[in-house]
Amino acid sequence: MEITLKHLQLSYRSRKKRQLFIKKTVAAVSAVILIAVGLIITFIMGQTTDEAEDSVEAMNRNFIMEEDNTQNTEDRIRVCIDAGHGGSDCGAEYQGSYEKDQVLAIAKLVQQQLQSSGIEVVMTRSTDVFLGLDERTEICNNASCDLLVSIHRNFYVGDTSVRGFEAWIHSSKPQDAYELADYIMKELSGIEGVKDRGIKTGSMTDSEEDYRVNRDSKCTSCLLELGFMSNSIDTELVTVNKEEVAKAIADGIRSYLDTVTVKK
Ligand SMILES: [Zn+2]
Repeated sequence: MEITLKHLQLSYRSRKKRQLFIKKTVAAVSAVILIAVGLIITFIMGQTTDEAEDSVEAMNRNFIMEEDNTQNTEDRIRVCIDAGHGGSDCGAEYQGSYEKDQVLAIAKLVQQQLQSSGIEVVMTRSTDVFLGLDERTEICNNASCDLLVSIHRNFYVGDTSVRGFEAWIHSSKPQDAYELADYIMKELSGIEGVKDRGIKTGSMTDSEEDYRVNRDSKCTSCLLELGFMSNSIDTELVTVNKEEVAKAIADGIRSYLDTVTVKK
């Protein structure tokens, strides 16, 4: 009986010990889990904070970039390219081909060239539409363009051998317009087969009466006559070699802009 009691006492103690051990183990494991969870939460919070800081930084950067873009838009050089004629006004016609179509094709290529250099281009027309002469200069002036280049082709009645490219500026022969025309004509003359007829003032009919684009535009301007439609050499240059002709015009404009301080 005594043995049994002792045995019972012993077994009670060992049960107590076991329970204590289990309690301690549970407490220790819980503590480890709590620490681990704490660490994980701290890590995640840290990441989130970093991400939040990153996105705030990105937003600031975007804001600054947008601000810069706004500044760029205001400060950027703006060139007006005017493709002559359009719509019901076909310009000169020769062997089924119209001046309005040939000059629009060149104008669009000039536009691409300039835009690839980060120059903003305002087109008076990009499609086959009619535009009055007033509308052309209004588009240019309203957009506060820094310079205007009007693109045309010549025609000579009765003599198909007459050929060559020329530029027209205002009769008062403004220095800036002369320089712009000069840069463009130098580039065009570099193309094999181009005959340079020079820079002229006024208009074909009257040296005192200016072309409207030169008379009414508020910026530096010139009008280009890209050879004679009535001459096969000139026409081939403008239709077959149109990329080269457009690049020469764009290069001339770029050279002018590089060396001359544009007054806004
Ligand atoms: Zn014309």
